[in-house]
Amino acid sequence: MKTEFSLAQLADPDIAEADKILRACVHCGFCTATCPTYVLLGDELDSPRGRIYLIKEMLEKDKPPTQEVVKHIDRCLSCLACMTTCPSGVNYMHLVDQARVRIENDYVRPLTERALRAVLAWVLPRPGLFRLSMVLARFGRPLAALLPTSKAASASPGLLRRIKAMLALAPSRLPAPGPSGGSVFPAIGARRGRVALLQGCAQQVLAPRINQAAINLLTRHGIEVVLVKDEQCCGALTHHLGRDGDALARARANITVWTAETERNGLDAILVTTSGCGTVIKDYGFMLREDRDFAGPAAKISALAKDITEYVGGIDLQPLRQHSDIVVAYHSACSLQHGQKITLLPKELLSKNGFVVKDVPESHLCCGSAGTYNILQPDIAGRLRDRKVANIATVRPDMIAAGNIGCMVQIAGGTSVPVVHTIELLDWATGGPRPGLN
Ligand code: SF4
Ligand code: SF4
Repeated sequence: MKTEFSLAQLADPDIAEADKILRACVHCGFCTATCPTYVLLGDELDSPRGRIYLIKEMLEKDKPPTQEVVKHIDRCLSCLACMTTCPSGVNYMHLVDQARVRIENDYVRPLTERALRAVLAWVLPRPGLFRLSMVLARFGRPLAALLPTSKAASASPGLLRRIKAMLALAPSRLPAPGPSGGSVFPAIGARRGRVALLQGCAQQVLAPRINQAAINLLTRHGIEVVLVKDEQCCGALTHHLGRDGDALARARANITVWTAETERNGLDAILVTTSGCGTVIKDYGFMLREDRDFAGPAAKISALAKDITEYVGGIDLQPLRQHSDIVVAYHSACSLQHGQKITLLPKELLSKNGFVVKDVPESHLCCGSAGTYNILQPDIAGRLRDRKVANIATVRPDMIAAGNIGCMVQIAGGTSVPVVHTIELLDWATGGPRPGLN
């Protein structure tokens, strides 16, 4: 794609990066076929190619984005299916990330939308506040029936529908909090390794059982696990809202404490059980590439970050039980399959450890969770969830496995089939408890 940035514009490293990405696109349109929003809405401007044109124009003109541009960029899930499909290696992720920052800085959203986004950016990364908000949401749930229902074709969902979507996602009860930062779980038997486990923000409130399963499995196989003190939310939530000041501050804080832990006690890896977070931590090196003090440490931390299945794939797991009567539908989270290119490994691990694993039709399509997307775009998210749940139902599973809490909550909202994390099933197969269902 031909670009027309001025030399002055190209002096900005972000614009130089965007120029490189845009020039790689040959507008072949292969990506449109696998883009969930194009599949649903059929509008070229809701396809990757359409959005790439919109972003190009916005950046080249160097003017505040129009309402039309914002509408179509906001509808993008950042699922990255387009990156998997693109034959030219266009890094759409870095392009849309930049577009979101530009929109956040230069576009004035309606007051209610600004307020909602500010609340999400403030509450979600703070587990204490998030827990409190979930308790309050429980009391608000009966009111949800009075709020307007989603309309499939809505162009711009109103505040009340978004609040309704938020209330619907709140669980009816909250589990007790898991272990706190600073905890160390020694290896059982001879120590074969030492890892940090990302505590996460929403996940530690909604499902501490996931990291508990990871700790159980790892320590049982000779790996010491540390929950690093003063670790923060990885920044993914605010990064996807275009609030890069917040996201980068969190990245720097985490790099500082993880680097200190590595130098003090040694870490073989930083493990992540939420693939949305893993994708962003693996990108810290890029996000901080222009930061003189943090570029090097960020690259090292990104190299240390691993999805839990990547690390567990290198351990000789000792299955104690065979669950050949359990059919597991494996939902491949977008951040895992498109963001981190981890596709076969989780399924292989589940099969090797005795489960009957079934692929879900249209597995490349997002379930509609996508961070805060199911709150901000409830109509599209609801349609994607219904489509995902219908596809899952065709394989008639006993359980659904996924590697990302966002997907788990989203899918669980549309089915009575238990939704569990892959690591919970692996823990169960190797001596842990049967997963805490839903
Ligand atoms: S598939 Fe790649 S090269 Fe083709 S239009 Fe999409 S982003 Fe551009
Ligand atoms: S990230 Fe997903 S929703 Fe966004 S353009 Fe790419 S395929 Fe479409």
